[in-house]
Amino acid sequence: MSDGGLESRHGEDLRWQSCSSTCSRAYKLTSLDVAFGLGTSWFAPASTLTLRLTAMHARVIVVGGGIGGLSAAIALRQRGCEVQVIEQAEEIRPLGAGLSLWSNAMQCLQKLGLAERLLAQGSIIARVGVHRWDGRRQTEFAVAQVAARFGAPSMCALRSDLQRALLDALPADAVQLNRKLESFDQTADRVQVRLIDGSILSADMLVGADGLHSTVRRQLFDDGNPQYQGYGGVLGVAPLNLVQADMSLVYIGPGSRIGILPCGPGRVYWFYCSNRKEPLPDVAPAHKQILLDRLQGWAPLAVQAVENTPEGAMMELSFRDRSPRREWSVGRVTLLGDAAHPMTPILGQGACQALEDGLALAWAIQRYPTIPEALAAYERARIPRTTRVVNTARRLGRVAQWENRWLCRLRNGIATWCPRWLQNRQMAWQFRPSIGPEGGVAPHEAIVTNPLSGADDRYLS
Ligand SMILES: Cc1cc2nc3c(=O)[nH]c(=O)nc-3n(C[C@H](O)[C@H](O)[C@H](O)COP(=O)(O)OP(=O)(O)OC[C@H]3O[C@@H](n4cnc5c(N)ncnc54)[C@H](O)[C@@H]3O)c2cc1C
Repeated sequence: MSDGGLESRHGEDLRWQSCSSTCSRAYKLTSLDVAFGLGTSWFAPASTLTLRLTAMHARVIVVGGGIGGLSAAIALRQRGCEVQVIEQAEEIRPLGAGLSLWSNAMQCLQKLGLAERLLAQGSIIARVGVHRWDGRRQTEFAVAQVAARFGAPSMCALRSDLQRALLDALPADAVQLNRKLESFDQTADRVQVRLIDGSILSADMLVGADGLHSTVRRQLFDDGNPQYQGYGGVLGVAPLNLVQADMSLVYIGPGSRIGILPCGPGRVYWFYCSNRKEPLPDVAPAHKQILLDRLQGWAPLAVQAVENTPEGAMMELSFRDRSPRREWSVGRVTLLGDAAHPMTPILGQGACQALEDGLALAWAIQRYPTIPEALAAYERARIPRTTRVVNTARRLGRVAQWENRWLCRLRNGIATWCPRWLQNRQMAWQFRPSIGPEGGVAPHEAIVTNPLSGADDRYLS
């Protein structure tokens, strides 16, 4: 920020600005400021100087200790907020096996100070090879080439490694387990949260990072259930050495596909997607032999990945998303991660976008004087981008699940002949740096200098 900082007698970072027509807006205080005894008598006359208080010292309750909630908590704490994470589970158990963390997510993890640790545990993804189900090559995406433009590689990590790294970056008392949100109330200057055990917590802001079936979202908008997209997946991690240890592979057949990603030395994460009329109600154990029967005649590597995985280490689930919303916040309450923009997993961007959300929210909280203004800025920065990601994932997911022979041929032909520049453009908007000049996420359309590459870049959605 260009404002000069001033340390007050209470230790807050008070920021001064030349007076402008925004003076009256800048006088709004967070409830915490009021609690610290700051009154309007502190202010210089409006005609000379404006004391601009940001919402950065806010007390925040984050509901949900998933990737979104934990990363937001770290980012908000880095910006001076007091954060409490409320998680319903008795222990934090990551759902799923591996996770692709594309360049955009790695830039967020760099900001959170966790990128190096994850890179040491997982594998860099330099290329993605796309093949027909029987192994015939279709195309290859030059991931590293595009990621290099943005100053951070793409990688695959174990979910448990990411979740552990996020937890370790927070003080032990910042995350309360076995505490489930039941409902909340808000007034003009605070939020009260009621937990299922009857206790009541209060804060300046509430962040619903409570996933696909978010309670916070239901109370804010009551906009129905996530939509099943007609297919599901089986996931696993297998001991397996890939010949090219920095290359992910995807094999696509009619109505089904399998992806195999290197995920640390001698280990791969794989996922198999297939059409299914009715969704599974919840995560279920998978049956290895049924899957191996379906993969008969597929490329040897695809079969080997499944064969090498213990049956108990596989899980099956159905894929759901929601149509994008135009707003995520009401007053002092907002949504983040899957609670705000659940998507189908074909782009591997759900957690990546949740990481971006956390940094954007923290940036907005530091940048704007009141919580509602910060939340409006957060929405402006994030909704256009996540809308594009959700819609693209929905469309691509449908195309990838086509069963019709002729449509599959058309799709395979397009994949094979798609020029490299178009592939790179598709990746670039997903990897585009989301970390703005102030260390947050720049509003879309703003032209900023990418601090990592030094290049001018345009944040387009
Ligand atoms: C098969 C599959 C593969 C995927 N692959 C990738 C990938 O490769 N890359 C990628 O970026 N993304 C991927 N995703 C998406 C990614 O997993 C999600 O987008 C991400 O985990 C969302 O994180 P979250 O923190 O928003 O939600 P969640 O991880 O769902 O966390 C929500 C948390 O809130 C808690 N909670 C819920 N209700 C309450 C309550 N009332 N009170 C207290 N706590 C509550 C839950 O217990 C949970 O811990 C994939 C998803 C799937 C299904």
